[in-house]
Amino acid sequence: MIFTLTELEHHPILFEVSYPPGELTFSDELTQTTDLVATGSATLLHNTLGEIRVRGNVKVGLSTVCVRCLEVAPLAFDSEFDFFYRPAIKKGAHGEIHLEEGEIDISFYEGDGVKLEDVLREYVLLALPMRALCQEDCKGLCTQCGVNLNRTSCGCAPEPIPSPWAALKDL
Ligand SMILES: [Zn+2]
Ligand SMILES: [Zn+2]
Repeated sequence: MIFTLTELEHHPILFEVSYPPGELTFSDELTQTTDLVATGSATLLHNTLGEIRVRGNVKVGLSTVCVRCLEVAPLAFDSEFDFFYRPAIKKGAHGEIHLEEGEIDISFYEGDGVKLEDVLREYVLLALPMRALCQEDCKGLCTQCGVNLNRTSCGCAPEPIPSPWAALKDL
């Protein structure tokens, strides 16, 4: 689904869409586990050079890898978004886009409009936690034998805490 300038010049576009797992691609580490349901609207902001505002709500379940134990970490999103897109015309000599101060939250679109799929991908990547966990108190892997400490315990002694004097012994 694409929100074109030509259509937005006449009226805002309302959307209510559902994408089953597999239809959208995110990053390699992310798997979509439930239908992604998005509702909202796209509007052309007046007195701008084609700035498009897309806002709405997204509900989706995803899974990624737990940073501590490498098992599945489920993620559930259900929240509002509000994004602004400008036509990508301010390109520098090397093709990079120069941002003026305060424009960090603005994205750019190429061609004649904004693709809803790109908006949803951006939403998911912004909503992702930096460090996903399978459970809040994940115990992780044993640093010595590698077993998953959520499932089993091992006989390894806890890592000795390095003594502040250890470095001096080498002198
Ligand atoms: Zn974990
Ligand atoms: Zn161990």
